[in-house]
Amino acid sequence: MDDVWDLVVVGAGPAGSASALRARQLDPGCRVLLLDRADFPRDKPCGDGIAAHARQELALLGLPGLLDDHRPTPRLSVTSPGGAHVSAVVARPNHVVPRRVFDARLVEAARARGVEVRRHRVRTLTTLGGHVVIDGHLVARTVVAADGANSAVRRLIGVPPSPDGHTAIAVRGYADVPPDDDVQVIVMQSEAWPAYGWSFPVGDGTANVGYGLLLPRMRETGLPGREVLHGRLARLLPEMVDSPPGEVRDLRAHHLPLSSGRPVPGAGRVLLAGDAASLINPLTGEGIYYALLSGRLAAEAAIGSPDDPLRAYRRGLRRALGRHLRTTDALALAARSPGFIDAAIDVAARRTEVFDLLVDVGLGAGTVPPRLAAAVALRWLKNLT
Ligand SMILES: Cc1cc2nc3c(=O)[nH]c(=O)nc-3n(C[C@H](O)[C@H](O)[C@H](O)COP(=O)(O)OP(=O)(O)OC[C@H]3O[C@@H](n4cnc5c(N)ncnc54)[C@H](O)[C@@H]3O)c2cc1C
Repeated sequence: MDDVWDLVVVGAGPAGSASALRARQLDPGCRVLLLDRADFPRDKPCGDGIAAHARQELALLGLPGLLDDHRPTPRLSVTSPGGAHVSAVVARPNHVVPRRVFDARLVEAARARGVEVRRHRVRTLTTLGGHVVIDGHLVARTVVAADGANSAVRRLIGVPPSPDGHTAIAVRGYADVPPDDDVQVIVMQSEAWPAYGWSFPVGDGTANVGYGLLLPRMRETGLPGREVLHGRLARLLPEMVDSPPGEVRDLRAHHLPLSSGRPVPGAGRVLLAGDAASLINPLTGEGIYYALLSGRLAAEAAIGSPDDPLRAYRRGLRRALGRHLRTTDALALAARSPGFIDAAIDVAARRTEVFDLLVDVGLGAGTVPPRLAAAVALRWLKNLT
């Protein structure tokens, strides 16, 4: 067996790298091992949208300039399922950075901070005298499982995956757009609601384009997933990209476990972070901010409370996201009626503070003050009558 690692992180996406980076930031002497089944750079099916809120997390991790060489996307345009529309400058610009680039930079930053990075696919996990043993030879005081939507570690510790009703599936590809395109476009669909397509310009003459819907809605079609996802994306493209779309390249699909069906955040000395903890916003599909945040909190618990890291992690998650997650749970329930989203977008188009608030709820840890909830509810009722 190896010596004991203070922290072994499984999965080197944003959640895992954030965890490894934070551990070494808090205790530069601690031994941290970051495992991933893939070599980096590697692709990850994603919209590549990195919210300003995620950049705030990068700054906390000591990486404020990680995306400075990428052009920000200052504008967001959203069309609701019933056709209400808002297009406005966001309070803090977002970025669109392909995951092949973003994730590799995070891994490199972790390596530079003294984290040992190894290519290794985790298959087994046991506990032994207050330690966790991975694949029979890697011994850890604490494990952070950041191995994504289909987390093997989550399964190994007996935590059930996201229920189908709280899981989405989405496809993304890359299309050519004018190089000066700087608007993130979201077009919601009443067909198979909740569902939406997006075009997120990278800033180099290409845009990440995609389409996603809830897993049960896709199954209800009775058609092969590929046919549904690719077909609907192709139909939506003319609405989303100004120039002729041409051929969409590199189409890849993946599951999105939504926070509305989040599981317990771990067991014993194993903490789940990011998609492994089903931390994806059910309203927008945003998960990178949550991944960075939960990865950081998991490391804070592992390093700061080594006797009972899970308890500390639960507390940290509750403090950082408790009210927000209750808000998105409630909004996801209300949003089952597309009319609610029509009303919200309608109000956001008239009132900048509502637009900013929706951005914070959809991409960050925002909550809805009762006064604004009432304004949207009123509009919703008015639209119904
Ligand atoms: C089509 C699509 C579009 C999306 N668009 C956006 C968007 O625009 N903005 C946004 O914020 N979010 C978006 N999301 C969500 C976002 O991609 C995820 O929330 C985010 O990647 C979660 O990061 P993570 O670190 O938890 O997991 P991941 O990024 O999935 O990383 C998990 C890592 O674990 C590794 N791994 C898996 N199993 C093992 C194993 N057994 N052993 C070792 N390593 C293993 C994998 O190789 C991988 O590197 C989108 C998701 C999809 C599917």
